[in-house]
Amino acid sequence: MRSALLISTYEMGRQPFGLASAAAWLRADGWTVDCLDAAKEKLRVERLHGPDLIAFHLPMHTATRLAGPVIVAARRVNRSARICAFGLYAPLNADWLRSLGVDEVFGGEFEEDLAAWANGTSQKKPPGAQRSQSQELSAASAASAVSPVFSGDRPLPRIHFLVPDRTGLPPLSKYATLQMPDGERRLVGYTEASRGCRHLCRHCPVVPIYKGQFRVVQSDVVLADVAAQVAAGAQHITFGDPDFFNGPTHAMRIVSALHAAHPGVSYDVTIKVEHLLKQRELIPQLAATGCAFVTSAIESVDDQVLALFDKGHTRADFLEAVTLCRDAGVTLAPTFVAFHPWLTLAAYCDLLDTIEALDLVDHVSPIQLAIRLLVPQGSLLLERDEMRAHIGAFDPDTLTYRWAHPDPRVDELQRDVMALVGTRLTSDRPPLFDEVRRIAHERAGLTDPSRQPGSGHADTRPARARATVPYLNEPWYC
Ligand code: SF4
Repeated sequence: MRSALLISTYEMGRQPFGLASAAAWLRADGWTVDCLDAAKEKLRVERLHGPDLIAFHLPMHTATRLAGPVIVAARRVNRSARICAFGLYAPLNADWLRSLGVDEVFGGEFEEDLAAWANGTSQKKPPGAQRSQSQELSAASAASAVSPVFSGDRPLPRIHFLVPDRTGLPPLSKYATLQMPDGERRLVGYTEASRGCRHLCRHCPVVPIYKGQFRVVQSDVVLADVAAQVAAGAQHITFGDPDFFNGPTHAMRIVSALHAAHPGVSYDVTIKVEHLLKQRELIPQLAATGCAFVTSAIESVDDQVLALFDKGHTRADFLEAVTLCRDAGVTLAPTFVAFHPWLTLAAYCDLLDTIEALDLVDHVSPIQLAIRLLVPQGSLLLERDEMRAHIGAFDPDTLTYRWAHPDPRVDELQRDVMALVGTRLTSDRPPLFDEVRRIAHERAGLTDPSRQPGSGHADTRPARARATVPYLNEPWYC
Protein backbone atom coordinates (compact mmCIF):
# COMPACT_ATOMS: atom_id res chain seq x y z
CA MET A 1 0.00 0.00 0.00
CA ARG A 2 1.24 3.54 -0.76
CA SER A 3 2.19 5.56 2.29
CA ALA A 4 2.33 9.29 2.85
CA LEU A 5 3.68 11.41 5.69
CA LEU A 6 2.07 14.86 6.07
CA ILE A 7 4.07 17.35 8.11
CA SER A 8 3.08 20.64 9.74
CA THR A 9 5.70 22.78 11.46
CA TYR A 10 3.72 25.70 12.90
CA GLU A 11 0.08 26.83 12.78
CA MET A 12 -0.24 29.38 15.59
CA GLY A 13 -1.26 26.79 18.17
CA ARG A 14 -4.04 25.32 16.07
CA GLN A 15 -4.61 21.71 15.07
CA PRO A 16 -3.58 21.84 11.39
CA PHE A 17 -6.60 21.96 9.07
CA GLY A 18 -4.31 21.60 6.05
CA LEU A 19 -3.02 18.20 7.18
CA ALA A 20 -6.52 16.99 8.06
CA SER A 21 -7.89 18.02 4.68
CA ALA A 22 -5.00 16.53 2.68
CA ALA A 23 -5.25 13.34 4.78
CA ALA A 24 -8.95 12.98 3.89
CA TRP A 25 -8.21 13.22 0.16
CA LEU A 26 -5.28 10.81 0.21
CA ARG A 27 -7.03 8.25 2.44
CA ALA A 28 -10.04 8.37 0.12
CA ASP A 29 -7.66 7.33 -2.67
CA GLY A 30 -6.33 4.39 -0.66
CA TRP A 31 -3.19 5.91 0.80
CA THR A 32 -1.96 5.07 4.29
CA VAL A 33 -1.44 8.49 5.83
CA ASP A 34 0.65 9.44 8.86
CA CYS A 35 0.28 13.02 10.17
CA LEU A 36 3.04 14.76 12.09
CA ASP A 37 2.55 18.12 13.82
CA ALA A 38 6.17 19.03 14.58
CA ALA A 39 5.00 21.97 16.70
CA LYS A 40 3.51 19.51 19.17
CA GLU A 41 5.38 16.23 18.68
CA LYS A 42 9.04 15.33 18.58
CA LEU A 43 10.18 14.69 15.04
CA ARG A 44 11.95 11.34 15.02
CA VAL A 45 14.00 10.94 11.86
CA GLU A 46 12.87 7.29 11.49
CA ARG A 47 9.43 8.59 10.45
CA LEU A 48 11.02 10.14 7.37
CA HIS A 49 12.56 6.85 6.17
CA GLY A 50 9.60 4.84 4.94
CA PRO A 51 6.95 6.99 3.22
CA ASP A 52 6.57 7.03 -0.56
CA LEU A 53 5.38 10.63 -0.36
CA ILE A 54 6.22 13.39 2.12
CA ALA A 55 4.15 16.58 2.04
CA PHE A 56 4.79 19.79 4.00
CA HIS A 57 1.98 22.20 4.85
CA LEU A 58 3.22 25.81 4.60
CA PRO A 59 0.34 28.19 5.41
CA MET A 60 2.50 30.97 6.87
CA HIS A 61 5.93 32.49 6.97
CA THR A 62 7.17 30.99 10.26
CA ALA A 63 6.01 27.52 9.19
CA THR A 64 7.99 27.84 5.97
CA ARG A 65 11.22 28.82 7.69
CA LEU A 66 10.85 26.00 10.22
CA ALA A 67 10.22 23.49 7.43
CA GLY A 68 13.53 24.19 5.66
CA PRO A 69 15.80 21.91 7.73
CA VAL A 70 13.15 19.19 7.91
CA ILE A 71 12.84 19.14 4.11
CA VAL A 72 16.62 18.82 3.81
CA ALA A 73 16.62 15.93 6.31
CA ALA A 74 13.72 14.22 4.52
CA ARG A 75 15.51 14.42 1.18
CA ARG A 76 18.75 13.15 2.70
CA VAL A 77 17.33 10.09 4.48
CA ASN A 78 14.66 9.15 1.93
CA ARG A 79 15.99 9.71 -1.57
CA SER A 80 13.22 7.79 -3.28
CA ALA A 81 10.31 9.67 -1.67
CA ARG A 82 8.41 12.23 -3.69
CA ILE A 83 8.36 15.44 -1.67
CA CYS A 84 5.91 18.30 -2.09
CA ALA A 85 4.94 21.47 -0.25
CA PHE A 86 1.45 22.94 -0.17
CA GLY A 87 -0.34 25.97 1.22
CA LEU A 88 -0.10 29.73 0.80
CA TYR A 89 3.67 30.06 1.20
CA ALA A 90 4.65 27.13 -1.03
CA PRO A 91 4.28 28.89 -4.42
CA LEU A 92 5.70 32.11 -2.94
CA ASN A 93 8.92 30.26 -2.10
CA ALA A 94 8.91 27.67 -4.89
CA ASP A 95 12.49 28.27 -6.05
CA TRP A 96 13.89 28.00 -2.54
CA LEU A 97 11.82 24.88 -1.78
CA ARG A 98 13.00 23.17 -4.96
CA SER A 99 16.59 24.00 -4.04
CA LEU A 100 16.07 22.04 -0.80
CA GLY A 101 14.73 18.97 -2.58
CA VAL A 102 11.00 19.59 -3.00
CA ASP A 103 9.65 18.10 -6.25
CA GLU A 104 6.37 20.00 -6.55
CA VAL A 105 4.46 22.83 -4.90
CA PHE A 106 0.74 23.50 -4.59
CA GLY A 107 -0.92 26.75 -3.51
CA GLY A 108 -3.92 27.60 -1.36
CA GLU A 109 -6.47 25.38 -3.14
CA PHE A 110 -4.23 22.34 -2.99
CA GLU A 111 -6.42 19.30 -2.33
CA GLU A 112 -7.32 18.20 -5.87
CA ASP A 113 -3.92 18.96 -7.38
CA LEU A 114 -2.01 17.34 -4.54
CA ALA A 115 -4.11 14.17 -4.71
CA ALA A 116 -3.79 13.99 -8.50
CA TRP A 117 0.00 14.44 -8.30
CA ALA A 118 0.24 11.80 -5.56
CA ASN A 119 -1.80 9.40 -7.68
CA GLY A 120 0.18 10.16 -10.83
CA THR A 121 -2.86 11.53 -12.65
CA SER A 122 -1.91 15.23 -12.77
CA GLN A 123 -2.81 17.16 -15.85
CA LYS A 124 0.16 19.01 -17.23
CA LYS A 125 -0.09 22.58 -16.02
CA PRO A 126 -0.35 25.40 -18.54
CA PRO A 127 3.01 27.08 -19.08
CA GLY A 128 2.04 30.21 -17.10
CA ALA A 129 1.26 28.12 -14.05
CA GLN A 130 4.76 26.61 -14.07
CA ARG A 131 6.46 29.93 -13.50
CA SER A 132 7.89 30.62 -10.10
CA GLN A 133 6.62 33.50 -8.01
CA SER A 134 9.87 35.43 -8.46
CA GLN A 135 9.57 35.07 -12.24
CA GLU A 136 6.01 36.34 -12.05
CA LEU A 137 7.06 39.23 -9.91
CA SER A 138 9.85 40.39 -12.15
CA ALA A 139 7.53 40.11 -15.15
CA ALA A 140 4.99 42.17 -13.23
CA SER A 141 7.53 44.80 -12.32
CA ALA A 142 8.77 45.07 -15.87
CA ALA A 143 5.35 45.73 -17.30
CA SER A 144 3.36 48.90 -16.84
CA ALA A 145 -0.22 47.72 -16.39
CA VAL A 146 -1.85 48.28 -13.02
CA SER A 147 -1.77 44.67 -11.88
CA PRO A 148 0.23 42.77 -14.49
CA VAL A 149 1.04 39.99 -12.04
CA PHE A 150 -2.55 38.84 -12.49
CA SER A 151 -2.47 38.49 -16.24
CA GLY A 152 -2.54 35.06 -17.85
CA ASP A 153 -3.24 33.18 -14.63
CA ARG A 154 -5.59 30.28 -14.63
CA PRO A 155 -8.58 30.74 -12.30
CA LEU A 156 -8.31 28.91 -9.01
CA PRO A 157 -10.09 25.57 -8.92
CA ARG A 158 -13.49 25.25 -7.25
CA ILE A 159 -13.06 22.22 -5.06
CA HIS A 160 -15.78 20.07 -3.58
CA PHE A 161 -14.11 19.52 -0.25
CA LEU A 162 -14.05 16.36 1.83
CA VAL A 163 -14.59 16.49 5.57
CA PRO A 164 -11.10 16.87 7.10
CA ASP A 165 -9.82 13.65 8.68
CA ARG A 166 -8.00 14.46 11.93
CA THR A 167 -7.02 10.87 12.71
CA GLY A 168 -3.47 10.72 14.05
CA LEU A 169 -3.16 14.40 14.94
CA PRO A 170 -2.48 15.34 18.59
CA PRO A 171 -5.68 15.88 20.64
CA LEU A 172 -7.18 19.37 20.94
CA SER A 173 -5.96 19.54 24.54
CA LYS A 174 -2.42 19.95 23.16
CA TYR A 175 -3.30 23.17 21.35
CA ALA A 176 -4.02 26.79 22.28
CA THR A 177 -7.01 27.36 24.51
CA LEU A 178 -9.47 30.23 24.80
CA GLN A 179 -9.06 32.21 28.01
CA MET A 180 -12.40 33.56 29.16
CA PRO A 181 -12.75 36.68 31.37
CA ASP A 182 -14.04 34.55 34.26
CA GLY A 183 -10.93 32.38 34.19
CA GLU A 184 -12.51 29.48 32.29
CA ARG A 185 -10.31 27.82 29.67
CA ARG A 186 -12.01 26.41 26.61
CA LEU A 187 -10.67 23.74 24.26
CA VAL A 188 -10.39 25.19 20.77
CA GLY A 189 -11.05 23.58 17.40
CA TYR A 190 -10.11 25.14 14.08
CA THR A 191 -11.79 25.09 10.68
CA GLU A 192 -12.11 27.16 7.52
CA ALA A 193 -15.39 28.20 5.87
CA SER A 194 -13.60 29.93 2.99
CA ARG A 195 -10.13 30.58 1.65
CA GLY A 196 -8.59 33.45 -0.26
CA CYS A 197 -9.92 36.99 -0.30
CA ARG A 198 -11.77 39.38 -2.60
CA HIS A 199 -9.40 42.20 -1.64
CA LEU A 200 -5.93 43.21 -2.78
CA CYS A 201 -4.18 44.70 0.24
CA ARG A 202 -0.60 45.26 -0.83
CA HIS A 203 1.15 43.85 2.22
CA CYS A 204 -0.96 40.68 2.41
CA PRO A 205 0.46 37.22 1.54
CA VAL A 206 -2.98 35.98 0.48
CA VAL A 207 -3.04 38.36 -2.48
CA PRO A 208 -0.19 36.95 -4.66
CA ILE A 209 -1.82 33.52 -4.52
CA TYR A 210 -5.55 34.25 -4.61
CA LYS A 211 -5.36 37.49 -6.60
CA GLY A 212 -8.68 38.84 -5.47
CA GLN A 213 -10.51 35.52 -5.53
CA PHE A 214 -12.00 33.59 -2.66
CA ARG A 215 -13.42 30.09 -2.49
CA VAL A 216 -16.00 28.74 -0.07
CA VAL A 217 -15.81 25.44 1.73
CA GLN A 218 -19.22 23.81 1.40
CA SER A 219 -21.44 24.37 4.47
CA ASP A 220 -22.07 20.67 5.05
CA VAL A 221 -18.33 20.01 5.11
CA VAL A 222 -17.66 22.87 7.54
CA LEU A 223 -20.46 21.84 9.87
CA ALA A 224 -19.39 18.18 9.82
CA ASP A 225 -15.86 19.28 10.66
CA VAL A 226 -17.17 21.43 13.53
CA ALA A 227 -19.33 18.56 14.82
CA ALA A 228 -16.34 16.19 14.77
CA GLN A 229 -14.24 18.64 16.76
CA VAL A 230 -17.03 19.31 19.25
CA ALA A 231 -17.30 15.53 19.69
CA ALA A 232 -13.55 15.56 20.35
CA GLY A 233 -14.02 18.13 23.12
CA ALA A 234 -13.92 21.53 21.35
CA GLN A 235 -15.84 24.24 23.25
CA HIS A 236 -14.80 27.01 20.88
CA ILE A 237 -14.11 27.10 17.14
CA THR A 238 -11.68 29.42 15.42
CA PHE A 239 -12.63 30.14 11.81
CA GLY A 240 -9.35 30.69 9.97
CA ASP A 241 -10.90 32.37 6.91
CA PRO A 242 -8.73 35.33 5.84
CA ASP A 243 -11.94 37.36 5.97
CA PHE A 244 -15.19 35.81 7.23
CA PHE A 245 -17.37 38.40 5.49
CA ASN A 246 -16.06 37.87 1.97
CA GLY A 247 -19.23 35.79 1.68
CA PRO A 248 -21.48 37.09 4.47
CA THR A 249 -24.51 34.96 3.56
CA HIS A 250 -22.43 31.78 3.58
CA ALA A 251 -20.73 32.90 6.80
CA MET A 252 -23.92 33.68 8.70
CA ARG A 253 -25.58 30.48 7.53
CA ILE A 254 -22.71 28.52 9.03
CA VAL A 255 -22.53 30.27 12.40
CA SER A 256 -26.33 30.16 12.75
CA ALA A 257 -26.27 26.41 12.14
CA LEU A 258 -23.29 26.01 14.47
CA HIS A 259 -25.14 27.85 17.23
CA ALA A 260 -28.33 25.86 16.68
CA ALA A 261 -26.48 22.53 16.82
CA HIS A 262 -24.02 23.44 19.60
CA PRO A 263 -25.47 26.33 21.61
CA GLY A 264 -22.70 26.22 24.23
CA VAL A 265 -19.89 26.49 21.69
CA SER A 266 -18.38 29.90 21.04
CA TYR A 267 -16.35 30.94 18.01
CA ASP A 268 -14.06 33.65 16.67
CA VAL A 269 -13.59 35.06 13.18
CA THR A 270 -11.47 37.60 11.29
CA ILE A 271 -13.29 40.47 9.56
CA LYS A 272 -11.86 43.59 7.96
CA VAL A 273 -13.03 47.06 9.00
CA GLU A 274 -14.57 47.73 5.58
CA HIS A 275 -16.78 44.64 5.93
CA LEU A 276 -17.72 45.45 9.53
CA LEU A 277 -19.02 48.81 8.34
CA LYS A 278 -20.76 47.44 5.23
CA GLN A 279 -22.36 44.54 7.08
CA ARG A 280 -23.01 46.39 10.30
CA GLU A 281 -26.47 44.86 10.68
CA LEU A 282 -24.81 41.44 11.02
CA ILE A 283 -22.62 42.35 14.00
CA PRO A 284 -25.40 41.84 16.59
CA GLN A 285 -26.08 38.47 14.94
CA LEU A 286 -22.48 37.50 15.51
CA ALA A 287 -22.95 38.26 19.21
CA ALA A 288 -26.24 36.34 19.29
CA THR A 289 -24.68 33.22 17.77
CA GLY A 290 -21.79 32.94 20.23
CA CYS A 291 -19.01 35.00 18.68
CA ALA A 292 -16.43 35.47 21.44
CA PHE A 293 -14.34 37.98 19.49
CA VAL A 294 -13.62 39.36 16.04
CA THR A 295 -10.01 39.82 14.95
CA SER A 296 -9.54 42.73 12.57
CA ALA A 297 -6.32 43.70 10.77
CA ILE A 298 -6.20 47.43 11.47
CA GLU A 299 -2.47 47.63 10.60
CA SER A 300 -2.10 51.40 11.18
CA VAL A 301 -3.97 54.47 12.37
CA ASP A 302 -2.20 56.65 9.80
CA ASP A 303 -4.35 57.28 6.72
CA GLN A 304 -1.33 57.64 4.42
CA VAL A 305 0.02 54.26 5.45
CA LEU A 306 -3.41 52.68 5.15
CA ALA A 307 -3.64 54.05 1.60
CA LEU A 308 -0.20 52.66 0.79
CA PHE A 309 -1.33 49.25 2.02
CA ASP A 310 -4.58 49.63 0.04
CA LYS A 311 -6.41 48.53 3.18
CA GLY A 312 -9.80 49.90 2.20
CA HIS A 313 -10.36 51.70 5.50
CA THR A 314 -9.32 54.90 7.23
CA ARG A 315 -8.54 55.80 10.81
CA ALA A 316 -12.08 57.17 11.14
CA ASP A 317 -13.50 53.88 9.83
CA PHE A 318 -11.55 52.01 12.50
CA LEU A 319 -12.97 54.23 15.22
CA GLU A 320 -16.47 53.63 13.87
CA ALA A 321 -15.92 49.86 13.79
CA VAL A 322 -14.83 49.94 17.44
CA THR A 323 -18.08 51.67 18.37
CA LEU A 324 -20.21 49.30 16.29
CA CYS A 325 -18.65 46.22 17.88
CA ARG A 326 -18.82 47.66 21.39
CA ASP A 327 -22.48 48.62 20.96
CA ALA A 328 -23.28 45.11 19.71
CA GLY A 329 -21.40 43.43 22.55
CA VAL A 330 -18.75 41.91 20.29
CA THR A 331 -15.10 42.06 21.40
CA LEU A 332 -12.88 43.51 18.70
CA ALA A 333 -9.26 42.28 18.72
CA PRO A 334 -7.20 44.59 16.50
CA THR A 335 -3.93 43.52 14.90
CA PHE A 336 -1.28 45.91 13.62
CA VAL A 337 1.77 46.20 11.43
CA ALA A 338 3.22 48.43 14.13
CA PHE A 339 6.62 49.05 12.51
CA HIS A 340 7.08 49.92 8.85
CA PRO A 341 9.37 52.25 6.88
CA TRP A 342 6.96 55.20 7.10
CA LEU A 343 6.59 55.20 10.87
CA THR A 344 7.94 58.03 13.03
CA LEU A 345 8.56 57.79 16.74
CA ALA A 346 5.71 60.25 17.26
CA ALA A 347 3.39 58.17 15.04
CA TYR A 348 4.15 55.07 17.12
CA CYS A 349 3.21 57.03 20.24
CA ASP A 350 0.00 58.08 18.49
CA LEU A 351 -0.81 54.43 17.80
CA LEU A 352 -0.38 53.59 21.51
CA ASP A 353 -2.32 56.66 22.61
CA THR A 354 -5.15 55.74 20.24
CA ILE A 355 -5.31 52.19 21.61
CA GLU A 356 -5.51 53.63 25.13
CA ALA A 357 -8.06 56.28 24.23
CA LEU A 358 -10.31 53.64 22.67
CA ASP A 359 -10.01 51.49 25.80
CA LEU A 360 -8.52 48.66 23.74
CA VAL A 361 -5.42 47.91 25.81
CA ASP A 362 -6.80 44.57 26.94
CA HIS A 363 -7.92 43.74 23.40
CA VAL A 364 -4.47 43.94 21.80
CA SER A 365 -2.08 41.02 22.11
CA PRO A 366 1.30 42.46 23.24
CA ILE A 367 3.12 40.96 20.26
CA GLN A 368 1.05 43.29 18.05
CA LEU A 369 2.93 46.26 19.49
CA ALA A 370 6.20 44.87 18.09
CA ILE A 371 5.24 43.44 14.68
CA ARG A 372 7.54 44.64 11.90
CA LEU A 373 6.41 44.66 8.27
CA LEU A 374 7.35 41.46 6.41
CA VAL A 375 7.95 41.76 2.69
CA PRO A 376 7.88 38.24 1.25
CA GLN A 377 8.28 37.16 -2.36
CA GLY A 378 5.31 38.33 -4.37
CA SER A 379 4.33 41.20 -2.07
CA LEU A 380 2.48 43.85 -4.05
CA LEU A 381 4.24 46.47 -1.93
CA LEU A 382 7.28 45.82 -4.10
CA GLU A 383 5.46 47.56 -6.94
CA ARG A 384 5.38 50.83 -4.99
CA ASP A 385 8.20 53.36 -5.21
CA GLU A 386 7.61 54.21 -1.55
CA MET A 387 8.59 50.63 -0.67
CA ARG A 388 11.37 50.28 -3.21
CA ALA A 389 13.06 53.31 -1.67
CA HIS A 390 13.71 51.23 1.45
CA ILE A 391 14.04 47.69 0.17
CA GLY A 392 17.26 45.67 0.17
CA ALA A 393 18.18 42.24 -1.10
CA PHE A 394 16.05 39.14 -0.65
CA ASP A 395 17.31 37.28 2.40
CA PRO A 396 17.12 33.48 1.91
CA ASP A 397 17.49 32.94 5.66
CA THR A 398 14.40 34.95 6.60
CA LEU A 399 12.59 34.44 3.24
CA THR A 400 11.82 38.14 3.14
CA TYR A 401 13.25 41.26 1.56
CA ARG A 402 15.43 43.21 3.96
CA TRP A 403 14.47 46.77 4.71
CA ALA A 404 15.89 49.30 7.13
CA HIS A 405 14.12 52.33 8.55
CA PRO A 406 15.64 55.65 7.47
CA ASP A 407 15.62 56.66 11.16
CA PRO A 408 17.69 54.03 13.03
CA ARG A 409 15.96 55.03 16.28
CA VAL A 410 12.75 53.45 14.97
CA ASP A 411 14.43 50.11 14.26
CA GLU A 412 16.08 50.28 17.68
CA LEU A 413 12.71 50.91 19.33
CA GLN A 414 11.22 47.95 17.45
CA ARG A 415 13.99 45.66 18.69
CA ASP A 416 13.53 46.90 22.25
CA VAL A 417 9.74 46.52 22.19
CA MET A 418 10.11 43.03 20.73
CA ALA A 419 12.63 42.10 23.44
CA LEU A 420 10.23 43.41 26.09
CA VAL A 421 7.05 41.71 24.90
CA GLY A 422 8.90 38.60 23.71
CA THR A 423 9.74 37.68 27.26
CA ARG A 424 6.31 38.54 28.66
CA LEU A 425 3.91 37.21 26.05
CA THR A 426 1.46 35.86 28.59
CA SER A 427 1.77 38.54 31.24
CA ASP A 428 -0.98 40.95 32.20
CA ARG A 429 -1.54 43.26 29.23
CA PRO A 430 -2.06 46.73 30.82
CA PRO A 431 1.26 46.94 32.77
CA LEU A 432 3.18 45.69 29.73
CA PHE A 433 1.39 48.20 27.50
CA ASP A 434 2.27 50.98 29.97
CA GLU A 435 5.92 49.96 29.85
CA VAL A 436 5.98 50.04 26.04
CA ARG A 437 4.21 53.39 26.06
CA ARG A 438 6.68 54.87 28.56
CA ILE A 439 9.68 53.77 26.48
CA ALA A 440 8.12 55.02 23.23
CA HIS A 441 7.32 58.46 24.61
CA GLU A 442 10.78 58.77 26.14
CA ARG A 443 12.44 57.94 22.82
CA ALA A 444 10.19 60.37 20.97
CA GLY A 445 10.85 63.11 23.50
CA LEU A 446 7.15 63.32 24.24
CA THR A 447 5.37 63.33 27.53
CA ASP A 448 3.48 60.14 28.20
CA PRO A 449 -0.11 61.37 28.71
CA SER A 450 -0.62 58.76 31.38
CA ARG A 451 2.17 60.36 33.43
CA GLN A 452 1.08 63.96 33.12
CA PRO A 453 0.20 65.48 36.48
CA GLY A 454 -3.51 65.34 36.94
CA SER A 455 -4.09 62.76 34.21
CA GLY A 456 -5.47 60.45 36.86
CA HIS A 457 -4.36 57.57 34.71
CA ALA A 458 -2.87 55.44 37.45
CA ASP A 459 -6.06 55.81 39.43
CA THR A 460 -8.60 55.58 36.68
CA ARG A 461 -7.46 52.35 35.02
CA PRO A 462 -8.28 50.12 38.00
CA ALA A 463 -11.29 52.30 38.81
CA ARG A 464 -12.66 51.70 35.31
CA ALA A 465 -12.82 48.03 36.31
CA ARG A 466 -11.58 47.22 32.81
CA ALA A 467 -13.11 43.90 31.91
CA THR A 468 -10.64 41.44 30.53
CA VAL A 469 -11.60 40.01 27.17
CA PRO A 470 -11.60 36.49 25.75
CA TYR A 471 -8.38 35.67 23.91
CA LEU A 472 -6.45 32.70 22.55
CA ASN A 473 -3.34 31.97 24.57
CA GLU A 474 -1.08 31.60 21.52
CA PRO A 475 0.62 34.85 20.55
CA TRP A 476 0.12 35.87 16.96
CA TYR A 477 2.95 35.32 14.54
CA CYS A 478 2.50 35.22 10.79
S1 SF4 B 1 -8.74 41.92 3.57
FE1 SF4 B 1 -7.28 40.79 4.84
S2 SF4 B 1 -7.04 38.80 3.83
FE2 SF4 B 1 -7.98 40.21 2.35
S3 SF4 B 1 -6.29 41.02 1.16
FE3 SF4 B 1 -6.69 42.46 2.83
S4 SF4 B 1 -5.31 41.82 4.53
FE4 SF4 B 1 -5.44 40.13 3.03
